[in-house]
Amino acid sequence: MDRFGNFLKSLTLREMRKGLGVTGRYLFKRKITVQYPEEKTPQSNRFRGLHALRRYPNGEERCIACKLCEAVCPALAITIEAEERADGTRRTTRYDIDLFKCIYCGFCEESCPVDSIVETRNFEYTFENRGENVMTKQMLLEIGDKYEEQIAKDRMQDAAYR
Ligand code: SF4
Ligand code: SF4
Repeated sequence: MDRFGNFLKSLTLREMRKGLGVTGRYLFKRKITVQYPEEKTPQSNRFRGLHALRRYPNGEERCIACKLCEAVCPALAITIEAEERADGTRRTTRYDIDLFKCIYCGFCEESCPVDSIVETRNFEYTFENRGENVMTKQMLLEIGDKYEEQIAKDRMQDAAYR
């Protein structure tokens, strides 16, 4: 019976007609495909993209080398080394994030007491050479400087929701 049923189905092109019916139903509907990269979908202010280290308005880096982000990171993607400066404050001498290990969970951002390590809205980045996946302190600070305006705006919006 199964074989006969299948034979009948193929003879009447039932599956094909069903498929064409679906195509026909969507043919004149509003198109929802976004023409990336010319067009972009809206982003949340909590979007978790490329990391950045922030500074205070006077140019001083925010990070106090408490290592909470390193401890909380479930992927062990953050490596920090620190030492005391001449003025008695503690600062990092090394702050690396391995983006191949990172799972973009946002825990580092949540744990930071001084709002230093953050994840920006930038998701358009690539690596061409071995080792470029490791973001150094200098690179992270430069990203922070570049996106500070947007980061500050997003943090203010976020605080308003809480
Ligand atoms: S986003 Fe998550 S996985 Fe990535 S560095 Fe931060 S804590 Fe680690
Ligand atoms: S980024 Fe924040 S949590 Fe991480 S070491 Fe610096 S101050 Fe501590």
